[in-house]
Amino acid sequence: MSYAEHATELLPWLQTDYERLVELKASQKLAHAYLFGGQQGLGKLVLAKHFSHYLLCKSTQNNQPCGECRECQLLASGTHPDLKLIQPEDSSEIKIQQVRDSIHFISQTSQRGGYKIIIIAPAEALNVNSANALLKVLEEPSNNTLLILVSHQPALLMATIRSRCHLMKFNRPAPELVIPWLESKNIRASATELLRMAGNVPLRALHYADEDALHDRVVLHSVLEKLLQGEMDISEAAGQCEQFTLEDNIEAMMLCSSDILARNQVSDIKAAQTLHDHDLKNLSTFFQDRTRLKALHGFYQELLKARRAIASTSNPNRLLVLEGLFFSWSATIR
Ligand SMILES: [Zn+2]
Repeated sequence: MSYAEHATELLPWLQTDYERLVELKASQKLAHAYLFGGQQGLGKLVLAKHFSHYLLCKSTQNNQPCGECRECQLLASGTHPDLKLIQPEDSSEIKIQQVRDSIHFISQTSQRGGYKIIIIAPAEALNVNSANALLKVLEEPSNNTLLILVSHQPALLMATIRSRCHLMKFNRPAPELVIPWLESKNIRASATELLRMAGNVPLRALHYADEDALHDRVVLHSVLEKLLQGEMDISEAAGQCEQFTLEDNIEAMMLCSSDILARNQVSDIKAAQTLHDHDLKNLSTFFQDRTRLKALHGFYQELLKARRAIASTSNPNRLLVLEGLFFSWSATIR
């Protein structure tokens, strides 16, 4: 279970967005449907849940849910009858029956006398049928209902759905907003380093802390180096990295490539300064000339493409994708 699925705290880098929503509610300008768009790991679902708790709490304090009233108790135990979280169940898709149930839910009177809220996460998991069924809810809003669609890839949603929601966009936060929060999570590794590895995506940084990612990264770097030296073949390399998810492997290779590119391109002085001196030193020595740097840049583009492809494919052949990427990586210095 990911952090976003059980946490409801107010994440410090989302405070401004939260206050904006509270303000909209206070001035009775809250829309009927919102689309929270932005890459995975920024805490969009945590915000959606925290704001829902605020809306349902009967004795909010300082614009925060009190955590003590009957509503808050029901929310904490996940049994509040007026909040529904729709996520893919046993497949990667949100099925039409789940949406039909939610239509039924929203058409009934609220059980606790306040808002009725549906959170759909991630909304790109709606298949064509369930998305069409959801349109019905979006087209005929009833009073005191709120729909929040959380999406890591808003572009994949049907245009008719997007156009009926108010879009709230989320970007990577400034590290100084995240580091104290990360440090408060009893992590063993350096918060700064984890966040850098995670490309400044906060919940991913926390995820890396859980899985001893510093060690994982050492493994990946050593595999990448052996591939360049011709000391390891591609299937062996894929085998060594199988313990990490394909997404993590891609993210780590993107970070590694962009670090090497920054290190070897004087034009990007600022990025180069953020590199640790010892970091990636061995790998970096392979990419001293222009041809190889150009090839590495091409490889980076390929990683971006692969990331998009696996996000929009329900069941990619992960081993094949990873082997293909390792093949391209090896080819950068030929
Ligand atoms: Zn409360």
